[in-house]
Amino acid sequence: MKCSFCDGRAIITQRHPGLHLCKEHFVEGFERRVEETLACGSMVKEKEKIAVAVSGGKDSTALLFSLHRILANREVELVAITVDEGIAGYRDDTIKAARAIAGQLGIELHIFSFREEYGYDLDEMVHGKKVAPCTFCGVFRKHCLNKTAKRLGADKLATGHNLDDEAQSVMMNYLKGDFERLMRFRPRRAQPGLVPRIKPLRAVPEKEIALYCMVNGVFSESRECPYANLSLRADVRDMMNRLESLFPGTKQSTVRGFEKMTARAQGSYAQMQLASCRQCAEPCVKQLCKACELLEQLKQEK
Ligand code: SF4
Repeated sequence: MKCSFCDGRAIITQRHPGLHLCKEHFVEGFERRVEETLACGSMVKEKEKIAVAVSGGKDSTALLFSLHRILANREVELVAITVDEGIAGYRDDTIKAARAIAGQLGIELHIFSFREEYGYDLDEMVHGKKVAPCTFCGVFRKHCLNKTAKRLGADKLATGHNLDDEAQSVMMNYLKGDFERLMRFRPRRAQPGLVPRIKPLRAVPEKEIALYCMVNGVFSESRECPYANLSLRADVRDMMNRLESLFPGTKQSTVRGFEKMTARAQGSYAQMQLASCRQCAEPCVKQLCKACELLEQLKQEK
């Protein structure tokens, strides 16, 4: 199959919008989408320091690699943060991959672990519990990333969320009927104590991210987290993949529909004022942040 733009051999077919792309045009299109996403939300400004959350998986590898390329001629500093949740037989490999990509690009990498920060590995936190491990993992990882990004003096915190993640999150909140949480998912204005998060890959489908890593020689095979199948997200992911293959463009339209809805709801749902956690001083809604609340729970169970 030929590329839709040149005589080169196509390495991917984008069913939506119906294009065949050779390696060069695929990489160019990928980086253009990331650049457009950065430009559209004025995500990165000159002289800023961007902390990039790098797990060592394909999404964060593609994120660090593409930002390093796209921002090469701008006065922007990149620094990488890796959080080791403490998941036996899984995280060790991805941390190696995180070290490798940061080393290859000459970007400073800071590694923090749940054990050092909170006194427990994730495996220990969730042992024998019915609650989905992702709930604990998500709360502590967000907490750790925000704290660390502040410690490093970062202006923004970039994460590797892709189009599939975004569509899944919107759909999960629809399914739960959780409108409040859905509205919290909008891009937010700056809040004291909270490093603004940016998602430069939010317009790129997951399967293109793996291909981008492969053609740039930075793909490293990694196993799926052993807890991934225990979450609602895993079922929603399968459902969205099935719908996408039947109706190409479903993921994009799910995210677009959500954006239209939030634009209409503008003003009706004011952004919540955050307080400081009385334990750790991180931003929170109640008196204790979710991480300190869960830590209290874990101490009581000991
Ligand atoms: Fe954490 Fe869940 Fe992701 Fe595993 S799948 S790394 S437990 S959020």
